[in-house]
Amino acid sequence: MNVLWLQSGGCGGCSMSLLCADTADFPAMLKSGGIDLLWHPSLSLASGRELVALLEDCRDGRTRLDVLCIEGSLLRGPNGTGRFHVLAGTGVPMIDWVSALAAVATHVVAVGSCAAWGGITATGPNITDACGLQYDGDRPGGLLGADFVARGGLPVINVAGCPTHPGWVVDTLMALAAKLFVADDLDPLNRPRFYADQLVHHGCTRNEYYEFKASAEKPSDLGCMMENMGCKGTQAHADCNTRLWNGEGSCTRGGYACISCTEPGFQDPGHAFHQTPKLAGIPIGLPTDMPKAWFVALASLSKSATPKRVKSNATADHVVVAPAVRKTRLK
Ligand code: SF4
Ligand code: SF4
Repeated sequence: MNVLWLQSGGCGGCSMSLLCADTADFPAMLKSGGIDLLWHPSLSLASGRELVALLEDCRDGRTRLDVLCIEGSLLRGPNGTGRFHVLAGTGVPMIDWVSALAAVATHVVAVGSCAAWGGITATGPNITDACGLQYDGDRPGGLLGADFVARGGLPVINVAGCPTHPGWVVDTLMALAAKLFVADDLDPLNRPRFYADQLVHHGCTRNEYYEFKASAEKPSDLGCMMENMGCKGTQAHADCNTRLWNGEGSCTRGGYACISCTEPGFQDPGHAFHQTPKLAGIPIGLPTDMPKAWFVALASLSKSATPKRVKSNATADHVVVAPAVRKTRLK
């Protein structure tokens, strides 16, 4: 399966993340899955005329393009010309290259939230008129249009995340290579369901604090970060706490609130990332699938039953009260 990877308006962080894939031999892993990386900006030697010739071969059908991976948002400015980002050596705007290559690719993959929705590059006034491949924020459309379907029958596959997890990219490519990826494998935002059907909250090491609404009050506290520190793990679609990063970490395990980077518009939350917006003392962003009244009732019940150990540890940077030692055998 021939894969071409191009970078557009992003920071390159998704490529850096890819290089942390859980393997000691990345090229061998791709080879074992039948994946031939035609070109990648950080991994390939070809440049200049060689690259342009490859792109022309793909565009004109001389080289089969099975998967077009785009990292970074698509810059449509100024005034729709795309000339804020011209592919060096071609004089042609990147958006025109991407449109032409997407038209001949069997599958198109948006690598990261920039390529999926516009992401960080589209923050605030969005002066470059950045968008995603098939979304403009949370609105279908983007560069290729809401009705775009690649030759293989799927819309753009949004492997969203900022950065995206290397495992999400590799598993998507492996499934495509094995012809095991079908429309039902995509969620309503066209993200692969193998990770988007999970929540970041699943497997978070702070779950006990969440259960008792024992909350962190400042950075480095051990407690749950939902109530005060801006954590959106109960709403964010991703498996970050069950498929760890670099085999051992996640944002919440590192002491930083989940900012829901797999969702469209995460970059403009309307509040500081590390603060929870509240109305009458109740967090505005409540857990997915939970009515507000239930949450309020559960929170007040939980708080009234919080063990001293959990309460004390929640606002400390290390365990200050250890669990009681009891016999666990049934009598
Ligand atoms: S999604 Fe995030 S990490 Fe990836 S290119 Fe965009 S800004 Fe960088
Ligand atoms: S810190 Fe966030 S992800 Fe972890 S338990 Fe609390 S709400 Fe869930």
